[in-house]
Amino acid sequence: MPPKYSGKCHCGDVTYVANGAPKIIAKCHCNECRRLSGTGHTIGAMFRISDVTIKGKLSKYKYVSAMNSEVTKAFCSNCGSPVYGANTRLPDHLTISLGTMDEANGLNVEVVIFERDKQKWDCVAPGTPSFETQPDWKPTV
Ligand SMILES: [Zn+2]
Ligand SMILES: [Zn+2]
Repeated sequence: MPPKYSGKCHCGDVTYVANGAPKIIAKCHCNECRRLSGTGHTIGAMFRISDVTIKGKLSKYKYVSAMNSEVTKAFCSNCGSPVYGANTRLPDHLTISLGTMDEANGLNVEVVIFERDKQKWDCVAPGTPSFETQPDWKPTV
């Protein structure tokens, strides 16, 4: 049976279920992720939009990324927990904030991106492939 991941925001207004294994799990140190998260990075698990069901009221914030694509960050309208991000570069996918998952102990960060923006006070897991910016990678399915 394919894996299934459930999650929720801090207040519980927003819940989701994602079906199947994530396409990739990336830790991003870019300046946008730093400010939006209020910490040194975000960690996101990418799924096909059609594999994810989300319930609850989300607010959305959009901006144009350093790579010139439009990024949407969706967060709980009540508690502000970042739930997912989407990017027009990969319109069929979204990236769920790993910290909102109920049970993600079987998952690992597979790639570190935008390492050039990493702050000295944050760290990279040793042995994780890292990229200066964003590799030109796209999911195959
Ligand atoms: Zn909430
Ligand atoms: Zn980022």
